[in-house]
Amino acid sequence: MANHLFDRLLGHQATEDKIFIDVPGGRKISFRTLHQESGQVANALIGMGVEPGDRVAVQVDKSPEALAVYLGVVRAGAIFLPLNTAYTPSEVDYFIGNAAPRVFIGAPAKEDALEDIADAHDCRLETLAADGSGSFWETVAAAEIDFDTVARGPDDLAAILYTSGTTGRSKGAMLSHDNLYDNSAVLKDYWGFTSDDVLLHALPIYHTHGLFVATNICLLAGASMIFFAKFDPDALVAEMPNATSMMGVPTFYTRLLRTPSFTREVAAPMRLFISGSAPLLAETHEQFSALTGHAILERYGMTETNMNTSNPYDGDRRAGTVGFPLPGVELRVADPDDGSVLGPNEIGVIEVKGSNVFKGYWQMPEKTAEEFREDGFFITGDLGKVDADGYVTIVGRGKDLVISGGFNVYPKEIEEKIDDLPGVLESAVIGVPHPDFGEGVTAVVVADGSRDISDADIAAAISSDLAAFKRPKQIIFVDELPRNTMGKVQKNVLRDRYADIYGD
Ligand code: AMP
Repeated sequence: MANHLFDRLLGHQATEDKIFIDVPGGRKISFRTLHQESGQVANALIGMGVEPGDRVAVQVDKSPEALAVYLGVVRAGAIFLPLNTAYTPSEVDYFIGNAAPRVFIGAPAKEDALEDIADAHDCRLETLAADGSGSFWETVAAAEIDFDTVARGPDDLAAILYTSGTTGRSKGAMLSHDNLYDNSAVLKDYWGFTSDDVLLHALPIYHTHGLFVATNICLLAGASMIFFAKFDPDALVAEMPNATSMMGVPTFYTRLLRTPSFTREVAAPMRLFISGSAPLLAETHEQFSALTGHAILERYGMTETNMNTSNPYDGDRRAGTVGFPLPGVELRVADPDDGSVLGPNEIGVIEVKGSNVFKGYWQMPEKTAEEFREDGFFITGDLGKVDADGYVTIVGRGKDLVISGGFNVYPKEIEEKIDDLPGVLESAVIGVPHPDFGEGVTAVVVADGSRDISDADIAAAISSDLAAFKRPKQIIFVDELPRNTMGKVQKNVLRDRYADIYGD
């Protein structure tokens, strides 16, 4: 038996001298070198006692070495467990306790705090810095290149990714070799990636977007990546003439639009701009296409399901929608309460089924059971609708739904009205406790500075379009909305911040 994922991503490119990872001003790594490094990583891990099925947890800064660790872990038959670099040691303690990895590779700068955690959970601590220094890479550099790839089948686990967990504890989504391979293969074809592609890669690699969508597709296609430690719009613009494609979260696009050196000429040679992980404002889509002539291709996915839908490569990329279910993905919209399937344009919870969908939450069988229907559909928790043409639109997370006076209020409907007003950059609508209504619709607004705008102006401008129960009871101005590293607005932070504004 072969190694289902590794063989398809890198195994067959062992003697390919083409550059796969190009770090501007830094290392250039060929497929051959990455293959050799994956063998050295695998040998190092086996030397540390890692066996097939063991977890290897990694919380390190983005680097080519970190990608070699991912591939080496999969090649050794173990399970890759990347952790967000923003997690503090006390948060990491929960993940290490929950996942019980054999080896934990952390940043040298946090070594003291991590040592205590590793000791408490009986796992081995190694270190790896962004420049490749640290105890782990010392062992890797001295290890043999040749490695007999460990056999793994399609259903074996390749990775566990913890969900961002804005409510309750994070859960470890178990992703199999086939979940990852199959979704990348579908996306590669859907988006037309070939060995001629050069992707601008500025995403973090502890998250499904930068790790699986971006990296796995480029590996499968034999494409190259220009690999940035972080998103810096000027640095991206400087490399754009050498690239064909970009994947980003919406904030990358809004920031590019504010970058004077980002012009139509700079974007002209690019073939594709892709956005996901958070909603792309229709306005951003329109401004981008007015400036560059490119229609950003928006897609929708999540840690548990990989990618579910995408706007078409050839065809109408509709602003504000996330396109069609991908080949092999079944998608339906259901009544959140009784699970009955809803018709076109009816809003309900999005449910998906297919080889993209994960195997369940690590060590949480009850939680897993709760989130699957009996016929195998996974309940995403996202609210949305499918229109008569088959385009899917997300209207928000189920937990962000506001229930005011017993009526459902979908935040996106109100946000779109507010965002359309001159003088408004963006907004977030939340529900916070209200003595009369249960929850009070509350709008948190960022002005764009182009003119003076007050809460009364906004209330007056939107009131004729919205039923009274949907109108915000308070409109609050802020300098910026709180976002996580993937660009998602953290409505839970806003709900906490304004929890007491209506008193009781
Ligand atoms: P994560 O597991 O961190 O990738 O987060 C997944 C969640 O991000 C989804 O369940 C959606 O709520 C949201 N999301 C991802 N892509 C989009 C999109 N294109 N538009 C709106 N929400 C999105």
